[in-house]
Formats: sequence, structure tokens, C-alpha cells
Amino acid sequence: MPVPDLAAASVFLDFDGTISTTDVGLHLLERLAPPEWKAIDAEYDAGETGSRVCLLDEWDLLPHDADLLRSVAFEVPIDPDLEALVAGLLAAGSEVVVLSDGFGFYAHDVCDGLGIPVLTNAVDWGTGALTFPHEDRCCACSSCGTCKQAPVKEAARRGRTTVVVGDGTSDRKAALLADVVFAKGSLAAWCAANGVVHHRFECLADVGEALL
Ligand SMILES: [Mg+2]
Ligand SMILES: [Zn+2]
Repeated sequence: MPVPDLAAASVFLDFDGTISTTDVGLHLLERLAPPEWKAIDAEYDAGETGSRVCLLDEWDLLPHDADLLRSVAFEVPIDPDLEALVAGLLAAGSEVVVLSDGFGFYAHDVCDGLGIPVLTNAVDWGTGALTFPHEDRCCACSSCGTCKQAPVKEAARRGRTTVVVGDGTSDRKAALLADVVFAKGSLAAWCAANGVVHHRFECLADVGEALL
């Protein structure tokens, strides 16, 4: 692949299944929720509901116990090359942003020390409510929790070359807008089925090898 000018690039990293080796949100549901979450998730993957409604319904099925949720979230391994990739991109002048349309807290727990923005949903632990500080009701997908299109569009407007790295349903609309797409899992299958040019990756070391 032609390597984009990294000093002019904005790189958007999905969290679940991209930074984490498997999906932390699904792991929490598998471990802690009654099986009703599976039908809710299937509706989302089929495009019948947006992520905001899906996440709210799934959140209702989880215990709102911060210590318990955090300890189960930490069972999911993080890609060992996360720090090296982020450091390499920042050193090359790229902007790096974590974009996660999940329960939010675990993406902050892992990524806040990296010195990059983390745009995701948020739990108000006082009330137990899941909130959406990065929703965008004006965007084309107005039903998402954290809008992944809006920051990609904003970077493109500033003349940045946009790079999206992801694995799942929530990355599709951002992948359609990005200049460069790295995809694995169901996002790679979706890109292939829909003619979206993409680079396959299996782990973040592959992304680093392609870009750095
Ligand atoms: Mg994901
Ligand atoms: Zn959106």
C-alpha cells in the first residue's frame, strides 16, 4: 500500500476488538448479563437498531457495579503493540484518536495514559446511567452512541488524511469516509462485500508495519 504522509494524517482507532484483542463489551455481557442481550446485539448487527438504543438496552441488563465491571473488563487482553503504534504515529506527526461506541469506561481505563483523545460513551456511576457525550444527532447515522463519522469528517475538513482502523459494525460508516481503512473481523467482511478498499490486519503490529 502507498503510505500516507503521517505528518498530515489523523488515525482513528476503534477500541473493542481492535485495541482490545476481543470485544470487551461483549465479554461483559457474556459474563454478567442474562442471555437476552444476544437478540439485542443481533438487531444492531443486522442494522435494525442504532448503537445508542442497543447500548442502552444492553446496559440495563448489566450490574451497575463499577468494581465488578472493571475487574471483568480487565480479563480481556490488550494488543501488546498499542503503545508502540501510538508512540510511533505521534512521533511521525499524526493525530491519533480512540473512537469507541461501547460502555466507555474501559476504553478510558486503558487509553487515558497514552496522551491521546478518547471519544466514547460514559457511565455516570452516581446514577448508573449510560450517557452519550459524543453523539451527533445531525449526522447521517443520528442513531449512534458515539458518532464515528463526525470526527472523521471534521479531520478531513481540516485537510487531514484520514485513517480508520477497526473491526466491527460501529466502524462501517467511518470506513466509508476514510482515505485509508484497516479492517479485520466482520468489518473486513463487510468492506469486501461492499467494495470498500481496505487493508486486512490481524493485530496492531500489522498496522504499524504498514504505516511506520
Ligand atoms: Mg470494534
Ligand atoms: Zn453518527
